[in-house]
Amino acid sequence: MKIGVLALQGDFREHLVAAKTAGHAALTVRRPEELAEIDALIIPGGESTTIAQLARTFELFNPIKKRISEGMPAYGSCAGMILLADRIIDGAAGQETFGGIDMTVRRNAFGRQVDSFESDLDFQGTSLHAVFIRAPWVEQVGEKVQVLSEVNTAKGPHAVAVRQGHLLATSFHPELTGDLRVHRYFFEQVCTGAIK
Ligand code: GLN
Repeated sequence: MKIGVLALQGDFREHLVAAKTAGHAALTVRRPEELAEIDALIIPGGESTTIAQLARTFELFNPIKKRISEGMPAYGSCAGMILLADRIIDGAAGQETFGGIDMTVRRNAFGRQVDSFESDLDFQGTSLHAVFIRAPWVEQVGEKVQVLSEVNTAKGPHAVAVRQGHLLATSFHPELTGDLRVHRYFFEQVCTGAIK
């Protein structure tokens, strides 16, 4: 399986390392020809508005949206989660997403006091140490969306890892901790279900 990592902005290098460490061929995606070569895409953390604008500039926006809608597996962390959401709260004016997951995410949801924090989550029945950096949370999901992990906030529990068929999104950054469980879940559970 050839894994592409969208490499326009953000922490794409860490995702490349994670994919390679998990035993997959991984390449950066900056051009439509590179997108055409890959079986699955990882959208890194960074700044979702910048990534969307650069995707437009590099003529990748519509091709990515199309491949996602045609069933290419994709995993988005943090800004990548925002880019896979069908709806955003507190987005920049006119902010676009590739979409695909029937959910509403709140950008920078955890607020200024807790810009960055770490928390132990339940993921697939085991404890996972998660790093959040100006992270979104999931405000609402459609019925096809499976919630994989939640955090308790002052405003109640919020989903921070979700899956809808061939698409996976996390509010946090597993690429920063060296723990490959979320990436392996993507490659072994999400991608295998979607790729013929
Ligand atoms: N707050 C960023 C955004 O809106 C996401 C932060 C991150 O990816 N670490 O895109």
